Amino acid sequence: MNGKPNAPEYACLGCGACCAAFRVDFHREDLAAPGKDGVPERMAVRLTPTLYRLRGTDDAPPRCVGLEGEIGRSARCSIYRQRPGPCRDFAPYAPLGMGEDACDRARRRHGLPPLEP
Ligand code: SF4
Ligand code: SF4
Repeated sequence: MNGKPNAPEYACLGCGACCAAFRVDFHREDLAAPGKDGVPERMAVRLTPTLYRLRGTDDAPPRCVGLEGEIGRSARCSIYRQRPGPCRDFAPYAPLGMGEDACDRARRRHGLPPLEP
């Protein structure tokens, strides 16, 4: 998730709309642990013994605590290399300029047009 809007190879760069649009839940395995990269525990809310939620994504309005900068301009994920599975899997072709429904909805919510292939 997260360039130059509509420049195909950088479509997500600077966007970040999806990081401030949906709840993001992930498996405990994606948490940081001694000797293992992952989501820092302070950035997560424990829901069940195995399920965690990125802090801030259930707020009204939602915004992941890992998101820095201005949506649509300078947004960036502060834990990009350690982000959890759902963030890695979201709209996999969006960085190439090919959005999908959830990406379009997130962008619309922040006044941004859908990506154009
Ligand atoms: S997936 Fe869509 S909403 Fe998310 S950062 Fe990329 S362009 Fe923005
Ligand atoms: S962890 Fe990073 S990619 Fe995932 S929602 Fe938060 S800011 Fe976005």
